[in-house]
Amino acid sequence: MADDDELHFTDDDVLSSASQEVDPTSLARWRVLIVDDDPDVHAATEFALRDVLVLDRPLQFFHANSAAQAQAILQNENDIAVIVLDVVMEDDDAGLRLVRIVRDVLQLHETRIILRTGQPGYAPEMQAIRDYDINDYKTKSELTRTKLFTSLTSAIRSYEQIHAINRNRRALDTVVRWTNELMALSGVREFACGAIERLAELLGASAAGFVCAQYGEDDSVMVIAATGRHAHYADRPLSELAEARIRDAVLHCLREQKNTYSLDGSVLFLFGRGQRLMAAFIDTGTAIDVDSRVLIELFCANIAVGLDNAFLFARLHSHAYTDSLTALPNRLSLIEQLDRRLGAQDSARYTLALIDIDHFAEANDALGHSFGDQLLRAVAQRLLAALGSRCQFSRISGDTFAALGMVEDLMPAHLLALFSEPFVIDGQEMMLTVTIGVAHLADIDGNGIDAVKGANIALRRAKTGNRGEYSFYTRDMAVDIRERVRLLQALRHAIERQRLFLVYQPQLELHSGRVCGIEALLRWRTEDGMLIPPDRFIPIAEHSGMIVKIGDWVMRMACFQQAELARHGFGQLRVGINVSVIQLRHPRFLASLSTALADSGVDPSFVELEITESVAMEEADFISRMLDQIKALGVRIALDDFGTGFSSLSYLQRLKIDRLKIDRAFINDICTDDRARRIPELVIQLGQKLGFVVIAEGVEVQEQADALKSMGCDEAQGYLYARPMEVPMLIEWLSARKT
Ligand code: C2E
Ligand code: CA
Ligand code: CA
Repeated sequence: MADDDELHFTDDDVLSSASQEVDPTSLARWRVLIVDDDPDVHAATEFALRDVLVLDRPLQFFHANSAAQAQAILQNENDIAVIVLDVVMEDDDAGLRLVRIVRDVLQLHETRIILRTGQPGYAPEMQAIRDYDINDYKTKSELTRTKLFTSLTSAIRSYEQIHAINRNRRALDTVVRWTNELMALSGVREFACGAIERLAELLGASAAGFVCAQYGEDDSVMVIAATGRHAHYADRPLSELAEARIRDAVLHCLREQKNTYSLDGSVLFLFGRGQRLMAAFIDTGTAIDVDSRVLIELFCANIAVGLDNAFLFARLHSHAYTDSLTALPNRLSLIEQLDRRLGAQDSARYTLALIDIDHFAEANDALGHSFGDQLLRAVAQRLLAALGSRCQFSRISGDTFAALGMVEDLMPAHLLALFSEPFVIDGQEMMLTVTIGVAHLADIDGNGIDAVKGANIALRRAKTGNRGEYSFYTRDMAVDIRERVRLLQALRHAIERQRLFLVYQPQLELHSGRVCGIEALLRWRTEDGMLIPPDRFIPIAEHSGMIVKIGDWVMRMACFQQAELARHGFGQLRVGINVSVIQLRHPRFLASLSTALADSGVDPSFVELEITESVAMEEADFISRMLDQIKALGVRIALDDFGTGFSSLSYLQRLKIDRLKIDRAFINDICTDDRARRIPELVIQLGQKLGFVVIAEGVEVQEQADALKSMGCDEAQGYLYARPMEVPMLIEWLSARKT
């Protein structure tokens, strides 16, 4: 009984529809109930309105002779538009009582009521009109045929309006409810499937259908979600759909941007924003009435908005959780994976490995960012190819990858082996080394963030240790952090109270046994006389930046003490001073050095700065410029811990260095293990070729000294000759040797 125009809430611009095929026979008659205990009134009323059309529609009459009978009819029949009601029937106010029942008991609020009474103005009637939403109140004599017609027409018009408003409100309520239900579904797929189910319900069909999307005019149409008998088409191109009829209908809908309804199926255009065109196809078996269509179209507009949001959300989600460079999950995603893992029963069988590319920043600067990007992608690919099926990889920072998997799949040796082959970028071969920090989830007490922290501590250890390529997190490392903070505060105090001092370790020429130099090594003695080794407090001082102040003091002190030694007749001793990269980077470094030289009056050629090899390899350009300036002051330079870094030959030649110090790790097994000789041998040969003096540190026994001598090593330093000593002891030691 509705037609298109009634539904004023639809916006034709948004909801285009093909709804021309309205069946006119579906236009029902207005249903009018006549209630009167006088049979003549029934006959007369029906006679008077017999062939009348109200708002283009005929009337259908129902008759009741009493209020009770009227109530029975109203309970069984829907959509009674108007009741023409006699007030006095069984008793004086049977009609008024019926009015109350209609509104309060039967809850019929749309039905209009015209009261007919013998005498007008009767008080209870006036009140009933006010309270019970009565349309008209006429005396029987007033109701001529014309009056009856106009009164009925206005009542029907009013009924029709109220009915339309209520239907729209109900439709809106449904749409709002469904839309809310749908919005709770996250993910494009779930949302679209939910939409199909509700559309199918609306269409009175079984939930079989699909939603598809097309991005540009030329782009193929993809099925993004499907249910029922179409389910297997999800994520496949529409062109693969077996039924040509359905394919054509969907393409037509996308082209025309219009809905089509047929007994075979309904295709609904989903008017999305942006470039994406979407359509839903639902298998339908029955004709869709106009009411349902309006509701469907309104709902489709909401689905389209919701789908757009779901797409947007999916994009945001993927941005938030993936690393766009390598397409691996990112740190945030790793932390969530870890949280889930840590919450599972078998979490103890899992481990987290952080794989950090050594000297990546340097390669990135030297070879360009695009090269660096390709390198990272290549690393990601290699990791995935080797272990992608067993572990979850992510990239958690610039050059750090994470692997989460079973303990046995993530053995550090296995991971390191993945880097034994070079990477080929732009036809260029590139060897990479990595450092690995491993945290077994069994050792983690907290959440995902704590697991990453733990693995990071292990990684830091592996890096600063300079000894191994990997390290495992242990519970006491967490305690360490707290201790570091304590240590840092104590170190601050120590500087103020001048608890730091220098000791010197002699260096000898191997061929002559002559003492040629000394290395200044920092010591910290606490108030209670405990010595804290520099390996423990220097990294902390570096981390906090305090090393700049400490380092300046070391430089000054070493220069002054060299001058003091000269006064004692030992002026020919070169003093080696360890310098941290943090110091080198400080803008006032050169100024501090020259002041120390000038103030102490030391001969700069007897001062040597020891810079660790790995440091020298970072920021190659900067370091090489810096070394030039240091050399310009007349100061010498030694490359410390040589062999642990990755100096390339060409780079070594560029650096203005005087001495290579072979790291003591390579001296240890030099006599017992033939293979262990290889690195010192190589370093010595290299030094000879490039014209550097080579010194071995950590020489503890005579056999080591002999072996080094036979290899052609120039100088040595170690417990074999002397431990580091304070100046007075050193002077004694030197004097004793002289005689
Ligand atoms: P390094 O520069 O490699 O210094 C050599 C280390 O080896 C010293 O440890 C020294 O005592 C030790 N050593 C010498 N001979 C032997 C030996 O025969 N056997 C063994 N096992 N060890 C030997 P130390 O004094 O504990 O210093 C450790 C590290 O602390 C140094 O390594 C250096 O990197 C750093 N460091 C020390 N003093 C300073 C300083 O004033 N400034 C900076 N930036 N770093 C310093
Ligand atoms: Ca040193
Ligand atoms: Ca060293």
